[in-house]
Amino acid sequence: MTHHLDDPVTVLPGVGPKLAGRLDDAFGIATLRDLLEHYPRRYHDAGAVLDLGEVEEGAPATLLGEVLEWSTRRIPPKGARARPLDLAEGRVRQASGAVFTVTFFNQRWRPATLPAGTVAAFSGTVKRFRSDLQLTSPDVQTLGTVAAGTDATSAAARLDHQRLLAVYPAVEGLPSFKLNELVGAALELLPAIDDWLPAPLREGQGLRDLDGALRAIHLPEDHADRHAARRRLAFDELFSLQLGLQWRRARLEAGTVGLDNSPVEGGWAARFLAELPFGLTGAQARALAELGRDLGGSRPMHRLLQGDVGSGKTVVAAWTMLAAVDRGRQAALMVPTEVLAEQHHRTLTELLAPLGVNVLDGLRVAALTSSTPVTQRRRILSELLTGELDLIVGTHALLEEGVRFADLGVVVIDEQHRFGVSQRVQLKEKAGTGGTGEVAGAATAPDVLVMTATPIPRSLALTLYGDLDVTVLDELPPGREPITTQLITPAEAYRRPRLEAFLRTEVAQGRRAYVVCPFVEESEVLPGKGAVQEHRRLAREVFPELDVALVHGRLSAADKDAAMTAFRTGAAQVLVSTTVIEVGVDVPEATLMVIEDAERFGLSQLHQLRGRVGRGGGRSFCVLFAGWSAELTEEAGARLHAVADTTDGFALAEADLRLRGAGQLFGSAQSGLPDLRLARLQEDVDLVADTRRLATEVVARDPELSAPEHQSLREEVLRRYEGGLEAFTALETG
Ligand code: ADP
Ligand code: MG
Repeated sequence: MTHHLDDPVTVLPGVGPKLAGRLDDAFGIATLRDLLEHYPRRYHDAGAVLDLGEVEEGAPATLLGEVLEWSTRRIPPKGARARPLDLAEGRVRQASGAVFTVTFFNQRWRPATLPAGTVAAFSGTVKRFRSDLQLTSPDVQTLGTVAAGTDATSAAARLDHQRLLAVYPAVEGLPSFKLNELVGAALELLPAIDDWLPAPLREGQGLRDLDGALRAIHLPEDHADRHAARRRLAFDELFSLQLGLQWRRARLEAGTVGLDNSPVEGGWAARFLAELPFGLTGAQARALAELGRDLGGSRPMHRLLQGDVGSGKTVVAAWTMLAAVDRGRQAALMVPTEVLAEQHHRTLTELLAPLGVNVLDGLRVAALTSSTPVTQRRRILSELLTGELDLIVGTHALLEEGVRFADLGVVVIDEQHRFGVSQRVQLKEKAGTGGTGEVAGAATAPDVLVMTATPIPRSLALTLYGDLDVTVLDELPPGREPITTQLITPAEAYRRPRLEAFLRTEVAQGRRAYVVCPFVEESEVLPGKGAVQEHRRLAREVFPELDVALVHGRLSAADKDAAMTAFRTGAAQVLVSTTVIEVGVDVPEATLMVIEDAERFGLSQLHQLRGRVGRGGGRSFCVLFAGWSAELTEEAGARLHAVADTTDGFALAEADLRLRGAGQLFGSAQSGLPDLRLARLQEDVDLVADTRRLATEVVARDPELSAPEHQSLREEVLRRYEGGLEAFTALETG
């Protein structure tokens, strides 16, 4: 009977229902495939010190061998030692035939766990005792047993040869060596494993075959062997994911064609650029070139625009929306909150003012949220339907019943991660037909631009937003003064009064300062400053001559508003707050950001908080107090130093990914981040980009993955992601 990867583990010799149950409980391993995808956590490199002749006395070493025999004896009390010692001495033979001794004190159980015939790795410090080499109380890893009747020397030789020993994630009762054994048995049982990658593709990428890779990841010949195996298996994870995402995009777009929304010479978009009081940054110019190609393309645009706060995304968005107006269509800007809707509406109106807004021959711009008064709302809806309104800014209210466009050409969505794929689809359905609803029998779809100010490492963006093309604004407009960031630990306590003196000088020059605390109130539960207490301390003891305002989430809206207004107008010069000021606050005179108990904040949070200063052109400062209420962990130290070392949001996002891993960074459940076992988004940036490009090429040629040569690709994607990936299920409901 030939076995298959999908067979249950019980087909393995010695695996009954009990062991199968334990494998399932501990690791979710039910099939041989699950077992083989339980990849080693690391490799025990026993290579360098195999030969007894090479062992250096006094140096740590790992020796492999077969246990020959044990002797035990009791050493009577002597001198200061009041109790007798139990000594167990084992003789172990290496493949070369050389023999060494392992000794254990007061471990009378040892011989029973390592009976003669056991092959094991012993790690410890080598000592010479008379002519004998000894390891005293070594770490032991049992590797297997030399079966009766087999040649012990050759079994040990096989293990010796296996200088890289896989070490598996293990639990009590299922030690790593048990997994070595099971994996070995599975590999022996299985015939050559079919490769889902077509040979030309595999060879084009210089990848090894699947069967060889699966065997080598568990039983590598050497480091090069396991690296090649890992690369192939990581490729599979990323390529199947990218294929799935591109395939899904193809299905979303099936039967639709893009509108020609490319800007018209001398039109609104062109005049907008000509009237800008500044030149575009290089990054903005590159973005417009990319977007211009998308807008005129035959496929609808699906692009993600990433850029740190202040990188100038609004200019890019405005230009894109005007391109639609150039073609007689409408554009919508969708944002997650009412506050942001108001803010964008204001900014957009100012930015477009030179072209004329809401005047007879100008652009018609409006905002729609759930608090838009009824009469106004009615007028806006009617103007959207007749096509009188050119641009609309709004919240989810834009998705409500009754909102219909005459001819929606461009949709811009701010802050992608709060909108799901299905909302993108929903908005498209409201697009109306205009004069262009059908082209050669296919429905038309508006161009979609998604913007985010959360810097995401490129590899992660390409994975999370696999169905979006990505443009990055990686350059700030000129003339921004960098923000100086400093870290102050209790070891430099003298710097606190200095900082207070510095704050006074800044305020004396008309500037303002934020002081951010991790908590509203101090508590017994978690050590750290409370905004309420810190406000009292600063207002009464430290800066009695200044006006210190307080804002936190437990205040009423009116009190919050009053505090913010006082700070904005300068009536208060210092604002003590919690993280409520993280988004949407813009006070150009603020030049100093003090963060108390900074270790309590995440990396991107610190970056966002720091972004509150440095908006007015002058020099700005960010001071991180850390380690004052609790010992700094190594991870926290690394995080704070990363923030202090750079103001580049993308570099920080990379650091965050490195420090915390992708899953934690976004919370894999909410982001739909797939379960990547071997691929590492941080290290495998090239692999991410390569697999994405390949997947795009395959799907461009065969959008349904229906060609015979793509049958295995289709099956692999469905096998891995059927129902598993949020993005895929959204396709069915969207
Ligand atoms: P974002 O939306 O990416 O946070 P904005 O579009 O709000 O950034 O731009 C931040 C500020 O920089 C705005 O005041 C904007 O007018 C200005 N700005 C944008 N592009 C440029 C540029 N190329 N040169 C100078 N200033 C610019
Ligand atoms: Mg287009």
